[in-house]
Amino acid sequence: MFDSALISRFKGVSTPFYYYDLGLLENTLRRLCQESKRQDFAVHYAVKANTNDKVLSVIQSSGLGADCVSGNEIKKAIESGFSEKQIVFAGVGKSDAEINLALDAGIFCFNCESEQELEVINGLALKRGKQARIALRINPNVNANTHHYITTGLDENKFGINIPDLNEVIQKLRGLSNLQLIGIHFHIGSQITDLATFKNLCTRINDLQHYFEKQHLVLRHINVGGGLGINYHEPDKEAIPDFANYFSVFGEFLERRPGQEIHFELGRSVVGQCCSLISRVLYVKKGVATRFAILDAGMTELIRPALYQSYHKIENISSPYRSVGAEYNGKDLIKYDVVGPICESSDCFGKSVELPETLRGDLLALRSAGAYGEVMASNYNLREKAPSVYSGTI
Ligand SMILES: *Cc1c(COP(=O)(O)O)cnc(C)c1O
Repeated sequence: MFDSALISRFKGVSTPFYYYDLGLLENTLRRLCQESKRQDFAVHYAVKANTNDKVLSVIQSSGLGADCVSGNEIKKAIESGFSEKQIVFAGVGKSDAEINLALDAGIFCFNCESEQELEVINGLALKRGKQARIALRINPNVNANTHHYITTGLDENKFGINIPDLNEVIQKLRGLSNLQLIGIHFHIGSQITDLATFKNLCTRINDLQHYFEKQHLVLRHINVGGGLGINYHEPDKEAIPDFANYFSVFGEFLERRPGQEIHFELGRSVVGQCCSLISRVLYVKKGVATRFAILDAGMTELIRPALYQSYHKIENISSPYRSVGAEYNGKDLIKYDVVGPICESSDCFGKSVELPETLRGDLLALRSAGAYGEVMASNYNLREKAPSVYSGTI
């Protein structure tokens, strides 16, 4: 991603900053759209993964819809040009104000996660003389085999309606006249790299479709959620996720009824690889058993390692022995614990990271920071918000 010309242009920019490769984002979207159209699938971008204005504008131009999890995300999506007809609204804790905002905007669908939420949306829709289109978010109890903090489809998770409760929920729904059931929704977790997991999801959805048909309920839409993982270990080898194989799992294993629409909500796989967090080494310090490379970026700019022990590839892009592809140019490597300046021990980007000799002033790239990176930034320790820099503009 980083050639010498680009790195020399970085020299004048104050650190830390998020570097966005918008060309890669466009190519990713092109591939995503090609592969989803091939199967006649509709894709909503999960806005929470990255709400950067430029990023949203590029995604909106590609024609995707928006999957939102808050009222402000709905507002932002509409301001960014997404059509309300292509907005879905999920979340276990929608407030009355958020529901009203979504009703007034006339969004495509509420993905509902509990019986009580159905009653509340019905009541608010009634007051406004509106019909709310809804899908039931069902917890399919499919293990996503990912980090437990980003698993959402198991009995123990707070998300969705559990299958044993469905009968009761459907009885309730029949009495709620301002709701219109248009489909069912799932989202089992994030950073899923084993496609067999999605095959298991399809099997569960097929069973549920039979169940709904027995209840004489027609499902016009099946929303299978998101969760496709990216390659954090080798971002250059797999800059664009394998959308073709991903969609073909659903094409092959999901029993699609005539006229039925299949929706996806992808976040990480759309934006994950298009951004790196660029940071400067402030100090190199010898510890008892290790060396620390102390950066000017920390968990305030990229919280994923601290929050769920996630791996981000770290490269020294200043060293003359900087990484070429996955390998450093044959130079002896030294192990560093790469840490941030924040007053928390969890403020660590990686332990025993092998880098060429790293010095004060070197620039390090924390790769694959596009998803759940900038959007989770905080001003803890009263830090300034790190700026964003875009390819083609520096
Ligand atoms: C977060 C989220 C997504 C997107 O997940 P990714 O792993 O980023 O693809 C999709 N749907 C819902 C309901 C979500 O909460």
